[in-house]
Amino acid sequence: MQLILLGPPGSGKGTLAADLEELYRIPHISTGDIFRRNIREKTALGQEAEAYINSGDLVPDTVTIAMVDARLAQDDCRQGFLLDGFPRTLVQADALGRMPVLRNQPLTAVLNLVVRDETIIKRLSGRRMCPKCGRGYNIHSQKPAVAGICDDCQAALTQRADDQEETVLKRLQTYKEQTEPLIAYYREQGLLFDADNEGTIEACFQAVRQLLDDRLSRS
Ligand code: ADP
Ligand code: ZN
Repeated sequence: MQLILLGPPGSGKGTLAADLEELYRIPHISTGDIFRRNIREKTALGQEAEAYINSGDLVPDTVTIAMVDARLAQDDCRQGFLLDGFPRTLVQADALGRMPVLRNQPLTAVLNLVVRDETIIKRLSGRRMCPKCGRGYNIHSQKPAVAGICDDCQAALTQRADDQEETVLKRLQTYKEQTEPLIAYYREQGLLFDADNEGTIEACFQAVRQLLDDRLSRS
């Protein structure tokens, strides 16, 4: 199964992706996570991406496309993959369509997470991350057992540099300008499925699961 998760920042892509990865046993490829790891490890890629990310802009297409191309060529993607945060521009979507891996493994579905702007702003400002294992939390909805501490590895939770309110508004604007056109692009290809994620992530997960099971049983 080859899936793309589409949706504005804060729509719950990362959380849903973790559930889908476990259910379908396909690697979860988050471009945001790969960039953040490179920034932490101070690689050349990380240094190139950091300023764009922290100001709410997109990393240039050439850099991002090369990174995803290399990732999808790895062996674990032979059973399928789940892309989270890629493609984010029409140029990236066209490049993905031409990647060798898609020739044998065409896209199964593009899941479009639908969430209102006000919900997004609230969620992102409450979002916290474990710097050690990457697990996500939210001070409103997904609290850790002990405030400010990761349940899994006891590290102190941090806020992402790009989750400050000003940067959140910029990311939303970037999304509307550059990523939203992908909805029509994939709808025309008959691949797009909307999934409402105003409610709980569990409700969204069950809806998506139903939708994918229906789609797989018909193909
Ligand atoms: P979110 O979906 O919450 O905005 P991500 O973790 O997916 O966050 O991405 C964080 C940032 O990483 C983006 O705002 C952008 O700067 C950069 N980034 C991630 N994916 C891409 C991409 N496909 N193209 C360009 N930049 C990207
Ligand atoms: Zn942790």
